Amino acid sequence: MLYRYGLVRQKHAPREPFIHTTLLQEEVSEPDHGRVRCLICERRCVIRPGATGWCRTRANLDGELVTLTYGAISSLAVNHIEKKPLYHFYPGSRALTAGSWSCNFACPWCQNYDIAKHPPNGGKFTSPSQFVAEAINKRCQGTSISFNEPTLSLEWSLEVFRLAHQAGLYNTFVTNGYMTEAALEHLAEAGLDGMNVDIKGDSAVVRDYCQADVEVVWRNLRRAQELGIWVEVTTLVVPEVNDDMVILMSIAVRIARELGPYTPWHITRYHPAYRLTAPPTPVQTLEEARAIGREMGLQYVYLGNVPGHFAENTYCPSCGKMLIQRSTMEQAESLVQDGHCPFCGQEIAGTGWNWETSEE
Ligand code: SF4
Repeated sequence: MLYRYGLVRQKHAPREPFIHTTLLQEEVSEPDHGRVRCLICERRCVIRPGATGWCRTRANLDGELVTLTYGAISSLAVNHIEKKPLYHFYPGSRALTAGSWSCNFACPWCQNYDIAKHPPNGGKFTSPSQFVAEAINKRCQGTSISFNEPTLSLEWSLEVFRLAHQAGLYNTFVTNGYMTEAALEHLAEAGLDGMNVDIKGDSAVVRDYCQADVEVVWRNLRRAQELGIWVEVTTLVVPEVNDDMVILMSIAVRIARELGPYTPWHITRYHPAYRLTAPPTPVQTLEEARAIGREMGLQYVYLGNVPGHFAENTYCPSCGKMLIQRSTMEQAESLVQDGHCPFCGQEIAGTGWNWETSEE
């Protein structure tokens, strides 16, 4: 069908069953007849008939917007939830994780560029019910849409989330947080329980490198909390891009003020990928950022991609005792009891602490 429009010329062009009506769209009034605005993410692309939007996953076919990646799975894996990273959300559980194609950000350091910088390219079609059945089969406690930007899989995710909740599974997103507020509300209503959201820098970094507005991401983080979604924040520290301590301090201050001091902040190490060739972030830079985060009042600041570092562990914000020991983003041992420190009784922020007992 898409060949008729000259839309897709690559060898493995998306076709049925990957083509599906897009949920959020509006016709653009005269004199732009036939153009449709996509309302999935804040790029809000206006797409003329026969064209695709910025992310190349949405196409205008005769005035109707369709997604080209419905159920198109590029990658599938059972991951520990710590790998997302989500450290205060069903610790030690496993999520069946699916990725698709493309992205709505332009980051030149993309660590998943083989799928995230790739236009829709088919893959194995997996229906929402097949995906949830697979999660149950593989003895997972939840689902995760990740690897590339999950917002671009909105319609498929909504169906997955509803079915997963019916089956007693949780649902998560690992996202750049650039969806529209309407898309976020649909996700919450369908059963999104937890999100890890990237804050990639200050407004200049996100504008210049990702071609996006970081204020949208902050708005969505605040809104997600209002909607009852558990949120954790990640910042990949990239040398000479966002490793200035002033930038990292500004992120820490905003997390503490706008999301609360008990919101986990993951400071992760960059490795050269895609268009950037700078060497990996020095561990000392990450440690300085962690110290700043703690000075700014954040209670749970973690280092990521530094295996064996003490800052992979969770410490009680009150008595300082180690409560969860992790190894390479997998939970090794948790002493948290019913969401509290067993030594001093301090409440530990998070959700799903008792999932193991509830499964018995
Ligand atoms: S989802 Fe894609 S087409 Fe839609 S607004 Fe975002 S970038 Fe544009």
